[in-house]
Amino acid sequence: MPARLQPPRSYPSSVAEFVLGPFLRRLGNPRPEPCGPYKKGCDYKVEGGQGLPLLVEVKRLFRSVKSQNTTREFLQKLRENPGHQGFTPPPDLGYEANRYYHHAYKAAGQIEATAEKLKLDLRAGFAAGILVFDVDENRVSLDLGGRIAAWMTRPWATSIDTVLLVEHRAEVGRWGTTASAVFFRNPRVRNILTAKIGLCTRGHFHVGNEPDGECRNPFMDAAPVT
Ligand SMILES: [Zn+2]
Repeated sequence: MPARLQPPRSYPSSVAEFVLGPFLRRLGNPRPEPCGPYKKGCDYKVEGGQGLPLLVEVKRLFRSVKSQNTTREFLQKLRENPGHQGFTPPPDLGYEANRYYHHAYKAAGQIEATAEKLKLDLRAGFAAGILVFDVDENRVSLDLGGRIAAWMTRPWATSIDTVLLVEHRAEVGRWGTTASAVFFRNPRVRNILTAKIGLCTRGHFHVGNEPDGECRNPFMDAAPVT
């Protein structure tokens, strides 16, 4: 499955293939939205989800320069004074939330644009928008789950039906994709995910790394339907 994610350097097609390809294929038939002259749309349209087309936009945010600098300064301090006590300073969540807000806002517009192009009425329930944050490069999104869910109640966010955080990791020796929802607008997408992928004991969706019995992954627990 080719990836159409921008910029290509920060989300190579191999990453999309490993992390999201198997996940989206379990839901139906994923098709990258052509870029062509039409550049405002979202990344994928997935057909086959119980008759509900899914419009998927994926964001993979790298660690901010500010966060990298904070870590670098801390390591510098350690080098200068090996007896220095303490932990790596926590990320500035307000600053990080601003970055994520910008990307969530943009994703809502991208999903809306694709829906308009394909003449799918999101408000009437003829399609559903899914925003995916790939957290592998930047774990701070795990601390922002509550804020991301709160943004979804804003008027600009209505094109987004579901927000998923996904990571690529090994569970009991098998690599795969683990997804956790921080927001469901209504039960439709959750029902599709549950029917096609299934839930683990902690409410995650696993593809390729399904735990045997009890899930021991401390990844964020799933959100209730609002
Ligand atoms: Zn799990």
